[in-house]
Amino acid sequence: MPDIQQAEQVLHQVFGFKQFRPLQQDIIESILAKKDTLAIMPTGGGKSLCYQIPALLFDGLTIVVSPLISLMKDQVDKLTAYGISASYLNSSLSPEDYQSTLDDIRRNQLDLLYLAPETLLKRNILHLLSGLQVDCFAIDEAHCISEWGHDFRPEYRQLSEVKNRFTDAVYLGLTATATPRVQQDIADSLGLREANIYVASFDRKNLYLDIVNKNSPLDQTIRFLQKHEDQSGIIYCFSRRQVNELAEDLTANGFSALPYHAGLSETERMENQEAFIRDETDIIVATIAFGMGIDKPDVRFVIHYDMPKNIESYYQQIGRAGRDGLQSHCLFLFSYSDANKIRYFIDQKPLEEQKVAEQHLQQLMNFVETHKCRRIKLLDYFGETFEEENCGMCDICTGEAPEQVDITIPAQKFLSTMVRTDQRFGFHHIKDILVGSRRKDILYNHHDKLSTYGIGKEFSRKEWKQLYRELMKQDIIVRDIEHKSLKLAPKAVDILKGNKEVFGVIKEPDKKKTIKTSKT
Ligand code: ADP
Ligand code: ZN
Repeated sequence: MPDIQQAEQVLHQVFGFKQFRPLQQDIIESILAKKDTLAIMPTGGGKSLCYQIPALLFDGLTIVVSPLISLMKDQVDKLTAYGISASYLNSSLSPEDYQSTLDDIRRNQLDLLYLAPETLLKRNILHLLSGLQVDCFAIDEAHCISEWGHDFRPEYRQLSEVKNRFTDAVYLGLTATATPRVQQDIADSLGLREANIYVASFDRKNLYLDIVNKNSPLDQTIRFLQKHEDQSGIIYCFSRRQVNELAEDLTANGFSALPYHAGLSETERMENQEAFIRDETDIIVATIAFGMGIDKPDVRFVIHYDMPKNIESYYQQIGRAGRDGLQSHCLFLFSYSDANKIRYFIDQKPLEEQKVAEQHLQQLMNFVETHKCRRIKLLDYFGETFEEENCGMCDICTGEAPEQVDITIPAQKFLSTMVRTDQRFGFHHIKDILVGSRRKDILYNHHDKLSTYGIGKEFSRKEWKQLYRELMKQDIIVRDIEHKSLKLAPKAVDILKGNKEVFGVIKEPDKKKTIKTSKT
């Protein structure tokens, strides 16, 4: 049985790395001892080495099952560059290349073979492999086996049957998803018995987590970029249209930015990605299509221009920053209307998927709305307890988040004025009653006789506007567009009754600067 000293030699001599990353050694030891293993590590944590090194030490073949067909070529090219004999089989190969890879397999010439699950499950492939010595199955993106994950793929379910055919091989499940539920599901569904489970910490200490209310996103982004001149960064948007528009706006404002989304031609995507990796452009504005397999070490910031759909995607996307270990900034522009957009998309899904998606969204909302260190909620999602009181690397711990104050009483004043005027008026009218305006409209409606008339003088008109925004944002009131009036939402009742408190930010809004946009 190969041992860990040999593994260390391979680490130095083949890969040229000085030392193992946390858990790599434990996982490799477990694999070499042929113990089924589940390895849970954040993206960029170094999962690949955990099976690549054993693959070089085992006599037989290591099969890597991965759903990411587009990345197989890259991975195999990298290994080949290290002098490792690796190959892949998937639908993108020409018939000739497919055939010649089959020949290599037959002649036992490979250490590593990458396969898509559907390829592995093919009768002829299973037959071919059955006649060979297979020492290890590495199941990459193993969360795809779980319906509780964010990326369920039914064909993964059949991998446990494959396991029964190769009793001499060790099974290694790898994933960056670690909710305890998914973790259990992977172990059960893959049929990992008495597996060693290794969970790396998901805390990326060098990432500064920052969430701000999105009020003028372009303006906010430009101000951010001005502070991060000449740095590499990724800006994630929801739609292709938004990507194009923002890339144009940033270019018009003198930044070096390129778009990336599935609507661009393959060539254009490749060119833009390459330009980013080679530092010919600072910024990539992208949909979620960007980033898989991108291994640029010095991404200094990731901006979420629109809301990601769950914590999983958020974490994966910010994880592309700071791979070199240096401090990097993750800015998330949050708005409740983005959250509603995501809710809308969830409602379009089949019923059985809705429940999971809603739960994922709620977890993200908890992360956004927390008043405590961001790392507590983020790591809690991954089943990890964050013990420190102040991480020093999030907007809340560094006190940059605007202070949330108790606004229950002014909120009650506002809401009860709405009730007393039968919810027939808009913001300006309610505010004028509260500050005791003598405007004609107020007097004409006898609103100067209301008990709430003039009881809101503790706030300026601007502050009432802020309060109004908070009430809208928190879904306490809604706008009735047809009647140009405000209506109470269900939440308002508890607040009026004094059963629920309201917190929010009341402060002077930022002064606007002139920004060029493509729309002007
Ligand atoms: P994951 O699959 O977990 O996202 P990768 O296996 O792609 O991560 O590794 C991320 C990066 O870290 C790669 O560039 C890899 O070469 C590098 N890496 C992995 N292990 C080590 C190590 N022990 N020392 C230095 N670099 C490493
Ligand atoms: Zn913190």
